[in-house]
Amino acid sequence: CLVKCSPFPSATPENGTTDTTLININLDHGDPIMYESYWRKMGNRCDITFNGYESLSYFANGKSLCWFLESKLEDEIKRLHSVVGNAIVDDRYVVVGTGSSQLMQAALYALSPADQPEPISVVSAAPFYSSYPEVTDFVRSGLHKWAGDARNFEKNEPYIEFITSPNNPDGVIRKPVVNRDQGILIHDLAYYWPQYTAITSPANYDVMLFTVSKCTGHAGSRIGWALVRDKEVARKMTKYMEISTIGVSKEAQLRAAKILGVISDSCLDPTLENFFEYCRSLMIDRWQRLRQVVKANDLFTLQKYPLQYCLFTKNFYESHPAFAWLMCKESEEDCEKLLKEHKIQTRSGRKFGSDPRNVRISMLSKDEDFNIFLRRLAAIGGLTNGN
Ligand code: PMP
Repeated sequence: CLVKCSPFPSATPENGTTDTTLININLDHGDPIMYESYWRKMGNRCDITFNGYESLSYFANGKSLCWFLESKLEDEIKRLHSVVGNAIVDDRYVVVGTGSSQLMQAALYALSPADQPEPISVVSAAPFYSSYPEVTDFVRSGLHKWAGDARNFEKNEPYIEFITSPNNPDGVIRKPVVNRDQGILIHDLAYYWPQYTAITSPANYDVMLFTVSKCTGHAGSRIGWALVRDKEVARKMTKYMEISTIGVSKEAQLRAAKILGVISDSCLDPTLENFFEYCRSLMIDRWQRLRQVVKANDLFTLQKYPLQYCLFTKNFYESHPAFAWLMCKESEEDCEKLLKEHKIQTRSGRKFGSDPRNVRISMLSKDEDFNIFLRRLAAIGGLTNGN
């Protein structure tokens, strides 16, 4: 009942002491370690071993256009999308990357015109994922340049738009906003999984990016994939990977294949605990407790989400995003600063091309950290002493 009835289960730090006052809680990164409890329950079901003579080659064993893609991974990616119903996989090329971060770069390379004197503009509607500007401009490529908030893009020329849905940082379901001729779209669907949001239809776009980081929580494996409609685009993305890293770790690919397979099995076999149902209930619980604290202290507001019918769970529910987009009410200008004073590290709205009264807060941290965070948030409003 402690977890269900009170937003503040007892906060005991990992070192066993009860003095939590000195701990700095870092909720800046979206490190998805909260799914650890599920994977512990799976025991050795996901174990995978390699002999010394295996996976020596640069090349993979499949016939994919992406020549370093392990066929087991391709099969499990397609199976999982079919089980969940969140993306069309028929007649798509699968390109694997070292995280979807590398695929973002590959997609920019593949989609930018190579024959233009000026780099193509890259936009995304604010608040946008804070990596897009960095990734676009980091090596000062002559192919593309960051052009900011898609809502302010007025040039009548070709552009690339990132559409993140559900969006990082605010969890909102998104559509393209520029909607002009000559627009090239990259759909970043890292969070289009049932633990975060309702699956309303299978996504069916030209370039779709996914990552195990946010789907299964295995960010450390660094595996992402792109589903690409056009053969030439898939070929160029593969070329980018070839030039930057000559492929993607076979060990990581085979581990990811195993993990994805276990998730699909968990959705189909009633004797197994359904991964998405399990994680969804963790997310719902955290969001309920956060909303309780925010409602009680009257200093902050949170983004609201509509009820939507989910084809996967066959139920109506609202989104429970991987990040909370918290806004300080009128009097407080800099929400990141305010929370930092209470030893809560978050990411300012400024980094997402938005208002410093907003911050992004990871909802995927360890239980201990999340519990301390809630206590401190309540303390800012005078509800608890913060420990
Ligand atoms: N896209 C979005 C929207 C993300 O939030 C992230 C991770 N924060 C990524 C892509 C990249 O994920 P990774 O490189 O771990 O696959």
